[in-house]
Amino acid sequence: MGSCIFCQIASGAIATPLVYEDADIVAFRDIQPQAPVHLLVVPRRHIASLNEPGDEALLGRLLQAARLAAAAAGLRQYRVVVNTGAEAGQSVLHLHLHVLGGRAMAWPPG
Ligand code: AMP
Repeated sequence: MGSCIFCQIASGAIATPLVYEDADIVAFRDIQPQAPVHLLVVPRRHIASLNEPGDEALLGRLLQAARLAAAAAGLRQYRVVVNTGAEAGQSVLHLHLHVLGGRAMAWPPG
């Protein structure tokens, strides 16, 4: 999808240092980090949100990529968040996992 910022990052059209990449997934640092380490794990293919049915196996690979990206960034303890829909805080309509770490986390989240 041409105007999607994460599609442009995933394709390399917008040059962004990648923490992790494979054939289907990229991970990079959030531009407005909410923790000392804040990564985004993104499928290269445009999927609007977790509510979009499709490649279920890819969802498992995204979690695996989150683990590998966290390790590459030096995290052993971290939180994975998937905001789904505006009310939940999703602002970019391209499925992504937040990986947050490097500080103690509170619960419940805001
Ligand atoms: P969400 O609000 O769950 O949709 O998360 C979208 C995230 O994307 C936010 O944390 C933004 O800071 C982040 N973001 C938006 N544009 C960029 C960008 N160009 N590079 C890195 N992170 C971005």
